[in-house]
Amino acid sequence: MIRVLMIDDDRLLFRLVQAHFKHFRTGAYELDWSETYEHGLDLLLTGAYAVCLLDFQLGDRDGLQLIREASEKGCRTPVVFLTAESSENIDIQAMEAGALDYLVKAEITPRSLERSLRYALKLGETLEALRRIATRDELTGLLNRREYDRILAEEEERARRFGHPLGLVIIDIDHFKAINDTHGHPAGDEVLKELALRLAGAIRTVDRVARIGGEEFALVLVQTDGPAALEVARRAISAVAENPVPAGNGLVLEVTASAGVASLPSDAATAAELFAAADKALYAAKERGRRAAVPAWEARDGS
Ligand code: GH3
Ligand code: MG
Ligand code: MG
Repeated sequence: MIRVLMIDDDRLLFRLVQAHFKHFRTGAYELDWSETYEHGLDLLLTGAYAVCLLDFQLGDRDGLQLIREASEKGCRTPVVFLTAESSENIDIQAMEAGALDYLVKAEITPRSLERSLRYALKLGETLEALRRIATRDELTGLLNRREYDRILAEEEERARRFGHPLGLVIIDIDHFKAINDTHGHPAGDEVLKELALRLAGAIRTVDRVARIGGEEFALVLVQTDGPAALEVARRAISAVAENPVPAGNGLVLEVTASAGVASLPSDAATAAELFAAADKALYAAKERGRRAAVPAWEARDGS
């Protein structure tokens, strides 16, 4: 079943759309209805719906606002706008807000409605695939460098606005070149994939893990101060080292990693400085013999 959510304060229009659903060529669609902004948004954010039909003028509230609010909260459900009249301006505004299509209410037919739903679903899938390619590292599936840069800037801004700390951990695999040189590049790739899983398992769901270089990873820890970030870094280092890592063809390897830890606002004032502080601490960890997490406050005056 393809679940469709309609958010519209017009009961008659809902009845009409409901009747149209019965005339679809496939019986695969199921329609739910909400008539208010808040309730509709809550339902949408459950993630239970494949596509949403959204009133452009929702009582005295604005459908554009609802789309923006939903997407800020991570909602990726394709949205089709229901507009009162045809206007060039409305469709551009709707598309800019993230709607994938729009229907003029007075012109809705079973055919046009079914077409629009199919179109929004298909386009939504395509956009999701593109988004994945743009934001993920191909080998490990972790966030890529570009997405890490974007998220760090966004979280820095948020931390500043709400007066929260922000933790950053940079992790680098120890002597990774030797793994490649001894066992081959494919074995190195297997190690990277396994360690990506372990690192992802070492953080909370609100935190982010990215592959920011060949064998370098970053943990972006929201609302986390230095000592708490250091604890996460130690857990991550243990997750790497405590069990041998399968590297393909029955090969298992002992792998260790080092980490540098820094946090806002104690160690830095900007995202760039935060990274520099964590990177410097990572360098200190390497200097001290590796397999360790070093915080910026210990690395500041050289190590
Ligand atoms: P250190 O303990 O100082 O970090 O030493 P290291 O050998 O880990 O550091 P170095 O920076 O010299 O080597 C990193 C290696 O990572 C070299 C490069 O070939 C390898 N590498 C980078 N990207 C990939 C990848 O995608 N797959 C594989 N298999 N190896 C990679
Ligand atoms: Mg390394
Ligand atoms: Mg490196």
